[in-house]
Amino acid sequence: MTSLLDKATERPHALTHRELAELLAWPDADGLFKAAYAVKCRSSGRRVAFRGLIEFGNVCEKDCFYCGIRKGNDKVRRFHMTADEIVRAAEWAHKAGYGSVVLQSGELTGETNAAFVEDVVRRIHAAAGDALGITLSLGEQSEETYRRWRKAGAHRYLLRIETSNPELYARLHPSDHSWERRRDCLRALRRCGYQVGSGVMAGLPGQTTDDLAADIEFFASEDLDMIGMGPYIPHPDTPLGKDIPWSPEAAKERLELGLRMIAATRLHLHDVNIAAATALQALDPTGREKGLLAGANVMMPNVTDNQYRADYQLYAGKPCLDENAAICRTCLERRIAAIGEEVMWNERGDSPHWRNRK
Ligand code: SF4
Repeated sequence: MTSLLDKATERPHALTHRELAELLAWPDADGLFKAAYAVKCRSSGRRVAFRGLIEFGNVCEKDCFYCGIRKGNDKVRRFHMTADEIVRAAEWAHKAGYGSVVLQSGELTGETNAAFVEDVVRRIHAAAGDALGITLSLGEQSEETYRRWRKAGAHRYLLRIETSNPELYARLHPSDHSWERRRDCLRALRRCGYQVGSGVMAGLPGQTTDDLAADIEFFASEDLDMIGMGPYIPHPDTPLGKDIPWSPEAAKERLELGLRMIAATRLHLHDVNIAAATALQALDPTGREKGLLAGANVMMPNVTDNQYRADYQLYAGKPCLDENAAICRTCLERRIAAIGEEVMWNERGDSPHWRNRK
């Protein structure tokens, strides 16, 4: 049994589909996490890259069945930060020593939005230069828009495929949302020269271990640089989440599944960046630290102004709604030191996989 962990540890992409499924169900969870952590330490040291997360708007044109800010949820108070507010938050993150920021919002298309983001990215890049990495997570756009934003100074893009199984994707989205279009956007992002990230949710209704193993194979076949995965947490105001019973036991199981996905992904891909998602902390107060110890190497502390945080809830129970950015910084630094890791202050934390490919 242990030889499978040895095989995975020795070199990347060593596992078959069946072996990935075996790893995901590995009986000794601690042994699995330790093996993944050793691979993470070999690839990026005992260090954690920070990205200051700016959730700048919750208006969305899409209606994903699992998402708390889908356009059909009329209980949400909608907001969109101004360009000045976003630039200020990015400058705060830069001065606080975060080597990168992530700009995230609901999905908006059209010229007004493209020009707004282009302007914001250009201003942040002009203020901080190449010392601050700029990641965008703004959904499906035309290749031309991706190219404009790249030229303005963004250099990473996160677009979660949510599941690599097109049939499961179809059950989670209205019929005009297309899995193929999303995959094609990932390929367009690569052509535009971004470091490309994607990810899935673990624990979706109807999802199997085979699906999760196929998700990891999808990450490999698309040659992704960054992975951002979250355990699926039902949101009560969504079509998918409203009837799903939730309990402390369910949260515990979902956390373990999320950690197993991180570990198996690390053991198969080795040198990608993997985020310890905030959703892990929604399930366990030390969920993000557990994510780091299972093989993740990136954290995304929220630097969005407090007045907006409560209105950006993709899933139920999002933590740290009342803490401001300065409190988050101190709190996370302490948490990371407590597990023997250190923060990569003032470093962009580019994906080793991207560097190795270059
Ligand atoms: S998951 Fe993204 S695209 Fe879908 S409704 Fe939520 S914010 Fe919009």
